[in-house]
Order: sequence, then C-alpha cells, then structure tokens
Amino acid sequence: MRREIRRSAAVSAVLLVLLFALPLAVVTPFRQELFPAESGTQEPAERVPFQPGDLDGDMTLRVLDGEEVREMTLGAYLVGVVRAEMPASFEPEALKAQAVAARTYTLYKLQTGGNHGDTADICTDSTCCQAYISEEDARSNWGDAADGNEAKIETAVRETDGETILYGGVPILAVFHSCSAGQTRSSGQVWVSDLPYLQAVASPEPADAIPNYYSRVEFTAEEFREKVLASYPEADLSGDVSGWLQNAVTDTAGSVETVEVGGVTMKGSTLRSVLGLRSACFEWEAADGGLVFYVTGYGHGVGMSQYGANQMAKEGADYREILTHYYTGVTVEPYTAAAMGSWGESGE
Ligand SMILES: [Zn+2]
Repeated sequence: MRREIRRSAAVSAVLLVLLFALPLAVVTPFRQELFPAESGTQEPAERVPFQPGDLDGDMTLRVLDGEEVREMTLGAYLVGVVRAEMPASFEPEALKAQAVAARTYTLYKLQTGGNHGDTADICTDSTCCQAYISEEDARSNWGDAADGNEAKIETAVRETDGETILYGGVPILAVFHSCSAGQTRSSGQVWVSDLPYLQAVASPEPADAIPNYYSRVEFTAEEFREKVLASYPEADLSGDVSGWLQNAVTDTAGSVETVEVGGVTMKGSTLRSVLGLRSACFEWEAADGGLVFYVTGYGHGVGMSQYGANQMAKEGADYREILTHYYTGVTVEPYTAAAMGSWGESGE
C-alpha cells in the first residue's frame, strides 16, 4: 500500500516536472532569436574578428548606422545582416542561401544607386535597406548560444564568398520574406512591376513549426473604417459591415490579389499594409458588428521564403538549389568588385 502511494507520488512528480518543462522546451529554441535579452550584456569572449573571403574582403562599404557612417568590408556587413535577418538555429544551407541573397541585394543597391546618395552605400534600417545587428548586440541576445551561432553565420558568409544571384549577368533584386502560404507570389501581384525572376513558385512551409503561422485580427467597424479612410477617403463604408469587402480575387494559395473595399479596388498587399496584417493571404468574416481576419504566413510573399528555405535544407537541398528554386531563371556565381564596373573607382 505504502509502495503504491510512493509510486503514485513519484509519477505525479514526474508529470509535474514535464508539465513545466515541456512548454519551455517548445518556447526556448525561438526565445533568444525572437526576443532580445531583457537585461544585462555579456562580455564578448576574446576571439579572432571575422575574416572575410577574398572577394567579400575586396569591397569596402560605407554603412549608415543611426547617425554614424561606418566603413566595413562587404563580408563583415553581410555577417551583420544574416545575424539580423534569419534565426541562427536555421540549417547551414539555409543560412548560406540567406548570405547570398543579402550579398545580392546589397550589390543590386550599389549598382542602382541605393537610397542614401553620397552619404552612404547602405543603411542598417530594415524598413529602408536590410536589417543589421552588431556582433556585440547579437551576442547579448544569444546568451550561451553566442559562440556557436556566430561561428555558423560567419561560416555561411565565408563559404559563399562573392557568390551572387545573377539574371542576365546582373545582380537581381533578391527580396525575401519570412514564410509564405505554401506558394510565393510574383512581384507584379504585390508591387507594380513584374520581374521575370520574381515569379510565384511552390514553397514547402512547415506550418506547424512556424510561430504564429496562422494569425487572427479583429477590428470594430469604427477601427476598420478609420484605417481604410485614412488612405482611401473615397471608400464608401456605410451600411452593413458584411458588405464592405467584395469580389476578392485570390491566387491558388489563397493570397488576395485584388479586393473591393467600400467600392474601391485595391491590391491585397495594399489592404494588408493598411490594416497591418502579417500577410496578404487572408480571409475575413463579419462578426459582432466588426470584421475578423484570418491570416496565413508572414511577409510580402515575394522571392525566397526563409522557412521554406530551411525546410528545403532539412530535406537535403543545398543553397544553390534553394536559390534557383525561389528565383526563376537565375544563376549563382562569384561576382567581383571588377564586375561592378566603375563602382569603387569614383568613390561612390
Ligand atoms: Zn537604407
């Protein structure tokens, strides 16, 4: 009898531990990448600074970081971009694909003049150029995983030294996004111009492994009206809420290409930004006098899907296979400062 009780006490104890440990096990892998450390910074260990490969080391960029313009090699800049743009827990081949996409995006910006005139070549603001995080800041976010994460990312940049995604011999606008709804979108569906290498392709999103892959957003009639009228004052949002959105045209993955809002036809991507939805793959219903949106995926959906890239890597694809899958009709080749033409000689 007593043994019985002791055993059931032991079972309860184990269950209790599991009860607390399991949610931690689920949350912990994402925590350090998704949320900056709440407090304190860790002393960076003494270590050798990043050494770029020959091609990435051959180019010096002027990087606008807040108010300050800092000079660094293309390689050092790319390590900072990959730290900020993709979770370090992703597969090595996915990190390499990200490094090549970031390098290509940077060279595209340099060749097309960029956003900063004579001040800088590129900046660290993700809403303008690409996100960037210094090693020190990344390390304080990463905590104990810092050495391993930093080494993984530096390797991804160094082992793809100079490699660039080219279409017709020229670096492409290598845009990427977090996760699609199982299919990427063409640039023409989302923005104005349709680029031959940014077309809709299948994307193997592991839906159940992606945090907030499905999201739900609720608006009262008044909130919805306010947001839409701020950008589209001509929209007629009178009458019953259930009639405000009409005639949605969707692609095969469910992303909204166009929809009429109060009689105004707009792109799904436009309504997405007006409402602040996580993607343009959404459905809606009228409920309690307001509107509820059900959203799949995160990002504009054009170019490489990062979670899709990670899934392809898990299934054995290398970074070239990932990149030529997401960018149509491209090649991945070393690209030198010399190929940049006059860039560098004029100091621009
Ligand atoms: Zn910028």
